[in-house]
Amino acid sequence: MTDVDAVYSEARSWFEANWDPNRPLGEWWELLARSGWGFPSWPTRWFGKGLDGAAAKAAHRARADVGAFSAPAGIATMMVAPTLMELGTPAQQDAYLEGIATGRDVWCQLFSEPGAGSDLAGVQTKAVRDGDEWVVNGQKVWTSGGHYARYAILVARTDVDVPKHRGLSFFLLDMRQPGIDPRPLRQMTGDAEFNEVFLTDVRVPADHLVGEIGSGWNVALQILLHERSSLDADSDTGGGIMGDLDLAAPAGSFVGAAKQDDGMDAIAAASGDRAKQLLLECLDRAGRRDDPVARQRVVEVFSLIDIARYSGGRLAPSLGKLASTQLMRRVRDTALWLLGPGGTLSGADAPFDGLVTDMALMVPGLSIAGGTDEIQRNIVGERELGLPGEPRVDKDIAFKDVLQGTIR
Ligand SMILES: Cc1cc2nc3c(=O)[nH]c(=O)nc-3n(C[C@H](O)[C@H](O)[C@H](O)COP(=O)(O)OP(=O)(O)OC[C@H]3O[C@@H](n4cnc5c(N)ncnc54)[C@H](O)[C@@H]3O)c2cc1C
Repeated sequence: MTDVDAVYSEARSWFEANWDPNRPLGEWWELLARSGWGFPSWPTRWFGKGLDGAAAKAAHRARADVGAFSAPAGIATMMVAPTLMELGTPAQQDAYLEGIATGRDVWCQLFSEPGAGSDLAGVQTKAVRDGDEWVVNGQKVWTSGGHYARYAILVARTDVDVPKHRGLSFFLLDMRQPGIDPRPLRQMTGDAEFNEVFLTDVRVPADHLVGEIGSGWNVALQILLHERSSLDADSDTGGGIMGDLDLAAPAGSFVGAAKQDDGMDAIAAASGDRAKQLLLECLDRAGRRDDPVARQRVVEVFSLIDIARYSGGRLAPSLGKLASTQLMRRVRDTALWLLGPGGTLSGADAPFDGLVTDMALMVPGLSIAGGTDEIQRNIVGERELGLPGEPRVDKDIAFKDVLQGTIR
């Protein structure tokens, strides 16, 4: 038996012995975190098993085969936890990792601003030192889950006298304090998962800084690498549901849950085995299982899914993310093509309860979130292929001297 098989068997036995769909979600996540099987690739001292990629995937597969609900998913587990393990102080690790692993604390990401998305280094939200605290003022936007998050990771400018990449710092922020005003934004899906977040005289204790003062750009890059890796077409995230789930509800009620209010189920259905299953059901629904043209189109997507599975974790994160967004678009387009006019319906009367329509509306966002496809191509060109960099006229100028719109 290979190591991977042994891990699968051990994990499967544990899930068979411990999964109880009637157990409240909070208790189930607590148990998962203590066992290490929720985040098998995390170190053993931090709620994991220290397993490598293939073995960790085998553990996730064992969980899925038993039908057990997965560990907490989202910004906290995908991005904050790995970064705290790498760069956080022991006090920060003690304070936050447990709440993340047990799903008690939902986190959001306060990076993007109206004038700083792709050009993240251009953020204008300022943090000014005041004794043992920083005082933060500014505006963020596109903050997923900002209206219910307990904590946030924040990039803010702490020095305007140096070039833009060097004057940023990275903070952990308590979202439940005066001065934080999240305002939900309605998306084309009909949901309002995004927010503008206005920050007015928000206080951050000095020991909530991650890394050094002025090193925020490097910490943010580290976080974005984790974000892109988790969006890889075959990522090791365990396929959980993101959002603000009710910890008192039975864990079993979330297994295969149809539509969460953030449309993430549609995203989950656009890759891997769920996408294959969906396309087969679309073929049946369209009565085209024996149609060679339709079969050929579906088989092409199946091949891409298998290639993604093979290449998962082996590609540079930007390439993995690009592969993922392209694959999801192919799944979406093929499903819509097979459903015909039915693919334009939404709601309970639509095919698959509107899952494919949700997919059509959600998939474009993945080509933007975590850095757009164009930015990923720039990164691949410059860092992987060694092509000449883009002209960057503001790279060596103090931030206060850079033209912002029409003002300095
Ligand atoms: C689903 C989703 C979830 C998100 N969640 C969060 C979140 O939780 N927290 C957060 O902080 N942000 C979040 N974002 C915001 C996201 O990070 C930004 O939207 C993204 O970085 C792009 O920035 P922008 O919207 O300002 O577009 P811009 O940067 O203004 O880009 C506009 C267009 O110009 C292109 N472009 C820009 N610069 C270049 C260049 N140098 N070369 C080539 N093309 C270029 C872009 O590719 C794009 O097509 C989320 C976005 C989405 C869609």
